[in-house]
Amino acid sequence: GDLKLPAHRLDGRAPGALLVVPIVDAKGFVRGVVLAEREAPVAFTEGDERVLQALASEIWRARSAEALMANMRRARDEKTRLHGAIERLNKAAKPAEVYDAALDAARAMAPADVAIVTLVEQRGSKKFHVIVRAAGDEAVVKALEGREWPDEAGGLVASAVRFGQSLPAADVDPAKTPVLDPETRLRGVASLRVLPLKSAQEVVGTLVLGSRRPEAYDGDLKLQLDVVAMQAATSLDRARLFEKTERLATTDGLTGLQNHRTFQARLDDVLAQAERYGKRAALLLCDIDHFKSVNDTYGHPVGDVVLRGVAQVLAKEARTVDVVARYGGEEFAIIMPETDAAGAAVIAERIRERVAARTFETEQGPLKVTLSLGVAGYPGDADRRATLLERADACLYQAKRGGRNRVVVASAARPRPLAAG
Ligand code: GH3
Ligand code: MG
Ligand code: MG
Repeated sequence: GDLKLPAHRLDGRAPGALLVVPIVDAKGFVRGVVLAEREAPVAFTEGDERVLQALASEIWRARSAEALMANMRRARDEKTRLHGAIERLNKAAKPAEVYDAALDAARAMAPADVAIVTLVEQRGSKKFHVIVRAAGDEAVVKALEGREWPDEAGGLVASAVRFGQSLPAADVDPAKTPVLDPETRLRGVASLRVLPLKSAQEVVGTLVLGSRRPEAYDGDLKLQLDVVAMQAATSLDRARLFEKTERLATTDGLTGLQNHRTFQARLDDVLAQAERYGKRAALLLCDIDHFKSVNDTYGHPVGDVVLRGVAQVLAKEARTVDVVARYGGEEFAIIMPETDAAGAAVIAERIRERVAARTFETEQGPLKVTLSLGVAGYPGDADRRATLLERADACLYQAKRGGRNRVVVASAARPRPLAAG
């Protein structure tokens, strides 16, 4: 019919004879042609035509098989990728690992020029959405991470959290739809998917995917992405539980500082490291002065407020590498890696001043306390853990004996040799 045959061959000469056989698919549609030319003006036979027909059907069969194989390969690769991504999600032990694994999983499965994890944060009676992780363009990531907005600002993220459903339900123009806060538009994005992260009890956040490609999240992909979001939420639940359990086991409930058990373990670590690498370490022990009278005069709850306040000062004055612990009832300890007694003494003196200067606001009115502190260094003052603790404790005792509200440092506090005779 409309088939246009070349009147001349590429070399400009007209062929002597021509045979055209259609390539027909299983449904009888013509999908192409096989064309044979002969230079000599000798007509093709019926036998020639049969050979060409066989060739045409063979070509179509091979092409179909190839397409089928490619489809199967793609499906298998997708399955492997999905499987691998979900496995990573399952292994994630920390919330931050879950965010990364969730974004990777989603992006392994679907095209995403921008991918975001948001979390719901309850602050008092108000609900906020916070972007805890973003992936994509560096500039976009920089602009998005850390961004937060109140729930009442609306947007698709807020709606997905409220209804616990993947959005948008129907076609929307992502360039015109508020997704995050009202000020932010995901420019250049043609496809959008907001997936709720549903934990056992509630929606804890969302996974947001955006692609420049139109209709990027259609069909099976919608379902697969829902599975990833479900898995991510389960993993996040578990990671948070891990974190909480670990916190309960290692920290002190009243002050939030490391507990006695953690202190002992960390002291072992720090001293082992110091010994192995020939480094120094210092230990500070302190005890609130006349604390019994605070309790006796104002009651135990007021005493607790003061304990928390002192703990805050210690945590603030210590460096990030230091281990701040509640050693006992109203006794605290700070392990200082790579610090000598003199360096620790400076920090101890600052802590003493800050606590003495501070007024603790309690329900019984403003209250002031002081601290006595003892400092010892490794290996200068002690060569073993037990001795280091003993030395620091002896210094603390001396600080008490010497009138309280003071720092005593081991090397400066060694008892003078008794005068002979
Ligand atoms: P000193 O200057 O010699 O240290 O006198 P002190 O009264 O502080 O010494 P003592 O060790 O006799 O008293 C410590 C008090 O700390 C006794 C106890 O009631 C109180 N205490 C221990 N743990 C807690 C706690 O968790 N909360 C409260 N409120 N008080 C506590
Ligand atoms: Mg005390
Ligand atoms: Mg005490």
